[in-house]
Amino acid sequence: MIIETFSREETRELGRRLGEQAAAGSVYCLIGDLGAGKTVFTQGFAAGLGVAGPVNSPTFTIVQEYMGSRMPFYHFDVYRLEGPEEMEEIGYEEYVFGEGVCLIEWADRILEILPERRVEIRIEKDPGKGFDYRRIDIDQHE
Ligand code: ADP
Ligand code: MG
Repeated sequence: MIIETFSREETRELGRRLGEQAAAGSVYCLIGDLGAGKTVFTQGFAAGLGVAGPVNSPTFTIVQEYMGSRMPFYHFDVYRLEGPEEMEEIGYEEYVFGEGVCLIEWADRILEILPERRVEIRIEKDPGKGFDYRRIDIDQHE
């Protein structure tokens, strides 16, 4: 499925809708360059899961845990990761194969260790279509 957004608010709203529909144990992979809108999407997604309070990219930790209204929400940002071994060190399997919902920014860096069953979301700009345009490709990967 491909969705085009034309503002930060539209991307946030898309995230919120997907957060509302997210099933326990699911893994969402966000892929896109710096400034693509991964965190904007994530903030909407968290709101859709019923997370109260602000959600920002975890700066000093790889993962930040929140409580949604239905289940826990685990927000990863693996931008600074040296390699998949660091994911082993934090015991990522407990999260990824757990009962909460995982969302991983920069997931393309660690795709090889993620479960086959995951949702891949790619966010891309297109300079020809304006500064606030984003093409968002959502793919249920099995
Ligand atoms: P990332 O986490 O991918 O590095 P952020 O979500 O932190 O990116 O930042 C995205 C930036 O792009 C924000 O400043 C936001 O206001 C801006 N922006 C402009 N248009 C859009 C859009 N259509 N969707 C999402 N963000 C947008
Ligand atoms: Mg970010």
